[in-house]
Amino acid sequence: MMELLKTMSVTEVRKKTFSLLADKQLQVEEVYLLEGLGRILAKSVTSPHDVPEFNRSTVDGYAVKAADTFGASDGIPAMLTKKGEVHMGMEANVTLGEGECVYVPTGGMLPPGANAMVMVEYVEDLDDSTLLVQQSVSPGANVLRKGEDLEKEETIFCKGHRLRPQDIGLLAGMGFQKVLVFEPPKVAVISTGDELISPEEDLSPGKIIDMNTYSLSAALQEDGFHVIGRSVVKDDMATLQQTLRDYIKQADIILISGGSSMGEYDITKKTIDSMGKPGAVVHGMSVKPGKPTIVGMAEGVLMIGLPGQPVSALVVYHLLMKPLLWKLTGNNTITPTVSGELTVNIPSAPGREHYVMVTLQEEDGRWKVSPQHGKSGMLSMMGRSHGMVRIPVNQEGLSKGDRVDVILF
Ligand code: AMP
Ligand code: MG
Repeated sequence: MMELLKTMSVTEVRKKTFSLLADKQLQVEEVYLLEGLGRILAKSVTSPHDVPEFNRSTVDGYAVKAADTFGASDGIPAMLTKKGEVHMGMEANVTLGEGECVYVPTGGMLPPGANAMVMVEYVEDLDDSTLLVQQSVSPGANVLRKGEDLEKEETIFCKGHRLRPQDIGLLAGMGFQKVLVFEPPKVAVISTGDELISPEEDLSPGKIIDMNTYSLSAALQEDGFHVIGRSVVKDDMATLQQTLRDYIKQADIILISGGSSMGEYDITKKTIDSMGKPGAVVHGMSVKPGKPTIVGMAEGVLMIGLPGQPVSALVVYHLLMKPLLWKLTGNNTITPTVSGELTVNIPSAPGREHYVMVTLQEEDGRWKVSPQHGKSGMLSMMGRSHGMVRIPVNQEGLSKGDRVDVILF
């Protein structure tokens, strides 16, 4: 009788995977701001000074003492004495006294003594030296207070934050030129299978072109891993051992697709076990697609055996590798999802978590969610999909009209 996989839940497999790398400390490096896009902060960042560093006007208008405008209106304007103007990018070199006003452009510095701005729309010149203010403003009106955006020493970003364009801009605005980020974990990707050839080789009957080193490497790149190499090897233990030995010297993690089940030619588990302790600690995950999943370690390098089916390989990648990066870096990324309404029933057998590829279509401002049918060997099914829907382990499918969250690709 054929031996069966002893499957573990996705949560258990994740825990095992994390525990294998519990002592792993990623290296850190300092990079220029623009190289920091998409990278994960290795240290919290605090503001070196107040932002803004001085009270700034948010409008074109006149800096005033708010009290001087109280009760002012169209009909009964307040009369103020003009005390010159503040130039953009220059220090305000006048001090405002009672009954006085100073012209300040948007973003300009409020002169000492002023505590509010009146927009030009609400003033009128009486003569060269006198301004009529037709609006009452309260203290702080139309002013970005010193430190209102950020106070000195305030934490802007925590360790583990993945840098986005607005973050790069903010860091530049604080005077930072470089940031301390984690070095991406180094990952090697191996596809196994006697049937596999590389895209540059000629196809012959029975052969197929390796897709997994490409799709997995691309996913790794997108998520912020460093792909150190890709290899395609035959279903031969000695060859796989040699390839693993080569990569063990440089990689933190090795992904091996194909040969992860219990068939005669499935050598991944045996090979991982042969490389050293502890060897494989997981063989089988309660998920569809993706059941033949292996997690192990040898010589301190995490090895994950993924199913050869291209869709399954990517689903397992998604379930294990992204959370692993978050765990290693303390990253707090939120997986983007949209919520929509199912257009048809989706059956599912309880006992395994189930992932269904779906497309999204907008109808009257709402998303309609339709499953894509196909086998897990068909990467085109995933290519057509906008995302996937998770059916929890003990649920017997979803019904037409159900609201579901779509995990976006
Ligand atoms: P396996 O997991 O080795 O039993 O492979 C399952 C299926 O996935 C088989 O049909 C393989 O031909 C196919 N497959 C395995 N590896 C790859 C790959 N790298 N690219 C595309 N298809 C693959
Ligand atoms: Mg195979």
